[in-house]
Amino acid sequence: EANRIYNFNPGPATLPLPVLKEAQAEFLNFRGSGMSILEISHRAKEYAAMQAEAKADIKELMGLGDDYEVLFMTGGASTQFAFLPLNFASKEHPGSYVLSGSFAEKAYKEAEHLGIGEIVASSKEGGYRHIPTQDELKIDENAAYVHLCYNNTIYGTEYHYIPDTKGVPLFADMSSDMLSRPIDFSKFDFIYAGVQKNLGPAGVTLVVAKKSFLEKSPEKLPTMFKYETFFKKDSLYNTPPAFNIYMVGKVAAWIKSEGGLAEMAKRNKKKADRLYGVIDASNGFYRGHAEKESRSFMNVTFRLPSEELEKTFVAEALAQGLGGVKGHRSVGGMRASIYNAMTYEGVDKLASFMEDFQKTHA
Ligand code: PMP
Repeated sequence: EANRIYNFNPGPATLPLPVLKEAQAEFLNFRGSGMSILEISHRAKEYAAMQAEAKADIKELMGLGDDYEVLFMTGGASTQFAFLPLNFASKEHPGSYVLSGSFAEKAYKEAEHLGIGEIVASSKEGGYRHIPTQDELKIDENAAYVHLCYNNTIYGTEYHYIPDTKGVPLFADMSSDMLSRPIDFSKFDFIYAGVQKNLGPAGVTLVVAKKSFLEKSPEKLPTMFKYETFFKKDSLYNTPPAFNIYMVGKVAAWIKSEGGLAEMAKRNKKKADRLYGVIDASNGFYRGHAEKESRSFMNVTFRLPSEELEKTFVAEALAQGLGGVKGHRSVGGMRASIYNAMTYEGVDKLASFMEDFQKTHA
């Protein structure tokens, strides 16, 4: 599309062009209903079929069986931060948290606020440059769960191993790397993601969890705070964000048609390698934030020699159709978010721009 830029925003983020075009083509008449997906009832048969397909595709991509269920919730990943301790933790069995970045910290704070949170490990010292290793984890075998943030969107670090939690249920926020690579998802008991990075438009939260964690929730909780409510009513207790779920379904179908998670991983690695390659070959002109073994395939963070140059970089990049490369204010510098939908072509253009920029400004 002639007037679209390469969008490196962290989320909401770029979506696959074929998905956007498909949605555009069927916008006025959803599956022959004569109504837009925005207008149709969530009790309609056309809606039911769409939601069922979306769930089935997600489970198939993740290689999960009947012991897992997919829920569509709202309030973003941030609301899940509160729901997890409310539903699963207690004074006797606290929620355990690995602090690997700001969202991991925010998740912990919700449990701490309720007096039922504890810290397993933290890489805060030194500015969240690495993912805590297995050796650094002090697992409390009495904990209700161990919570990880699998990809740290702001710092650009990502887990490249699945922690051994000594039998304690493993929970993960996968907001920024969900469905980006094959993982043994069956090692996780509870996974959730705000979908606005890899999976669709902001407004729906994806939960994929073992049914045993969803079928029964504490009596005292308000109806909409209980996973049980969503589980028992197939995410249709109240009106779901139908359009957002529809888009997530389309993205899941797109991932399948492109070759699934193995193919996503191959492409994402190639893209990440191209950018980290430029950083590593720059003789210190570009300084990566993440330690090498913790580098994210989704968010590539780096600094330039001065803030002045960083401003120039952002402006010149945009002038070349490369948008959203400014980093998060808490880390500074640059961040290129290269989720599933970002093409190699876009990444290569950014990498070449970086090489040229260094030649001109070093
Ligand atoms: N977790 C991670 C890893 C994120 O990147 C984000 C959003 N940037 C959040 C949680 C918060 O998500 P939401 O905005 O959906 O509440």
